[in-house]
Amino acid sequence: MQVYVVEGDPLTLIDTGVRRDNARAALERAFEELGVELSDVRRVVLTHYHTDHMGQVATLREAGADVEVWVHEDDAEDVEFFSVEREERIETSNALFREHGAPRDLLERQAERIRREIHGVPPLAAPTRVDRPLRDGERIPFKDFELEVLHAPGHTAGHIVLAEEATGTLLTGDHLMGNAVPFTESFYLPGLPDPSDAIGRRPRFRGLPAYLASLRRLRGGSFRTILPAHGGILDRPARVIDEALLFYEVRVQRVERIVARIAAEHGDASAWDVWRELFPKLDPDTQMRTRMVMVIGALDVLEDEGRARPIRRGDGTIAFRPDARQRPLSSSR
Ligand SMILES: [Zn+2]
Repeated sequence: MQVYVVEGDPLTLIDTGVRRDNARAALERAFEELGVELSDVRRVVLTHYHTDHMGQVATLREAGADVEVWVHEDDAEDVEFFSVEREERIETSNALFREHGAPRDLLERQAERIRREIHGVPPLAAPTRVDRPLRDGERIPFKDFELEVLHAPGHTAGHIVLAEEATGTLLTGDHLMGNAVPFTESFYLPGLPDPSDAIGRRPRFRGLPAYLASLRRLRGGSFRTILPAHGGILDRPARVIDEALLFYEVRVQRVERIVARIAAEHGDASAWDVWRELFPKLDPDTQMRTRMVMVIGALDVLEDEGRARPIRRGDGTIAFRPDARQRPLSSSR
């Protein structure tokens, strides 16, 4: 995990590390080398709300730092009202998985196990005040330069990356990493079912399509260096972006083939049907949730690209069929 100190005026920290003594000690050591103290930090910009990014904001404030916290507006509530239960999204994820075919008793067992696990460990972050909710295109000013906020949803709804134009530097948080491709989130948003949706689905943050769209947007930029939160510094931004796009396209194609195979036999395929075929050796009790979000994300992409069509079964489950409709010949692709 890397955090970045911007030695400008005001002294600014980009992400903070988890709320643990060793993370605090690491931060203090790094600051000592720079000749500053934790309490000198005036501003923290969070790339997103996850605990390894926001975890030490409360620590800094307890150390007497008069810091402002800046975070995208779509992640601000997750910072201000942080709790492990909220972070785990147990209830809302279960509702999502249930609607996509996962068995109720499996989901209930998982909810119980996750609650048991999180109550045995001190949280890796503490809720803390947000001073400035950010939006796409805003500038983070320093005395001699500025960072541009680019909303890059996917890994979380309010993930941002920060661009410095003169040097072509991009601080990417978990959006692009040196050692992995991030998972993306998917969860129901407040509000009633969309009346224009043919099968009456509730509004939802669809992380994978959002992630791929944010990658394509960054692909058009002329960046030279990527400073990620995990893995080393990267100097071939276009290649890193293409690798992340390819990583997910391979998975989307795999899901597409499985949907076609199951639908040929049974008429349609739910995300849960796909999960079981995709991961036959995994234990659903402990290894289902992140991968189920990935399958749902892949189905979202297939739907958006006209490659699969959602239906609702008699029992309310959402399932998919391959979409055999011809795309118009005049389409500009
Ligand atoms: Zn993260």
